[in-house]
Amino acid sequence: GETIGILGGGQLGRMIAMAAAQLGYRCHVYAPEPDSIAAEVCARFTCAAWDDAEAMAEFAADCAVVTYEFENVPVEPLKALGATPLLAHARALETAQDRLNEKQFVTKLGGRPAPFAPVDNAQDLAAAIDAIGAPGILKTRRDGYDGKGQWRIRTPEDAAALDLPQTALIYEGFVTFFAEFSVILCRGSDGDVRFFDSACNVHEAGILSLSTVPAPAEVLEQVPAARELAGKVAEALDYVGVLTLEFFATVEGPVFNEMAPRVHNSGHWTIEGAVTSQFENHVRAICGLPLGGTSLAARSIEMRNLIGDEADDWAAILANPANHLHLYGKGASRPGRKMGHVTRLILD
Ligand code: ATP
Ligand code: MG
Ligand code: MG
Repeated sequence: GETIGILGGGQLGRMIAMAAAQLGYRCHVYAPEPDSIAAEVCARFTCAAWDDAEAMAEFAADCAVVTYEFENVPVEPLKALGATPLLAHARALETAQDRLNEKQFVTKLGGRPAPFAPVDNAQDLAAAIDAIGAPGILKTRRDGYDGKGQWRIRTPEDAAALDLPQTALIYEGFVTFFAEFSVILCRGSDGDVRFFDSACNVHEAGILSLSTVPAPAEVLEQVPAARELAGKVAEALDYVGVLTLEFFATVEGPVFNEMAPRVHNSGHWTIEGAVTSQFENHVRAICGLPLGGTSLAARSIEMRNLIGDEADDWAAILANPANHLHLYGKGASRPGRKMGHVTRLILD
């Protein structure tokens, strides 16, 4: 089979590689960390810095197609790869890597994010709180994940007491939501778009904890409008592969939170819970193959993340025949680190 290149070495890359292997592809991972858990299941591994243009060109020359599992891959070296068959969507990455760009882009397409304002210094922050109000959340515009790089601001006094980091920031009004959900779609190279069922997602301390499918009725009501926006995003970016948008379900309808131009943690339930997983459909899409069905393989599904230091009892999890245990092979368990997940299928 041909070789698929994966930029990034974490669990998402590992799961893409496992799906690719099933379809007869070999994978070559490119990541800066030497202990890549994606590389463990791949044929080849290049450990080199993101800005090592020579290493990246050599990597790309080995691949029939290149994708990524890490959305903060620097865009410049990708653009420099020029004619290499690249499904790494420099434009999708550029849009999603910066929360300000992302919100402006989605607003132009008719989406509704929380009120927001860019913040570069204390005066900007005071003005933003004046205009938008408190409570709110101050976030770094770039590089945040799992709630890292975020400060909750209850009052203007909270803001005044903050020691602002020397990086571009964005202030967002706090959204009163009754639930969170995600839209995960896959767009084929022929423009065919398939949506997975939307999971209702619960976060703890900014980290995804639980995804349930089907989502409750009051969330399902908001899915069509959210899908319409996600479809427009995919179309506007001429996107190929799996794309995720996160939403807050509010009494005024869906409020856009953020997008991820990649496979997503809130779609891990699709490995056993959908006819075709998000990982397989992503591989099919980037390899120019027809997409697989996205309907449910069970009546309901629950996916729980195993977060570091929670001392999960794996034997007890496996003793329940409804459970599917996934462990990512990360050595050290640290608080807040995603070590694995469990998917429970309810068949009847
Ligand atoms: P991810 O790991 O999903 O990329 P992230 O670090 O990019 O996370 P966000 O998705 O921006 O972080 O925020 C994490 C969580 O914090 C959200 O899922 C939500 O629960 C809460 N949150 C973020 N922004 C807001 C907001 N404006 N109003 C209310 N809650 C929010
Ligand atoms: Mg994010
Ligand atoms: Mg998020």
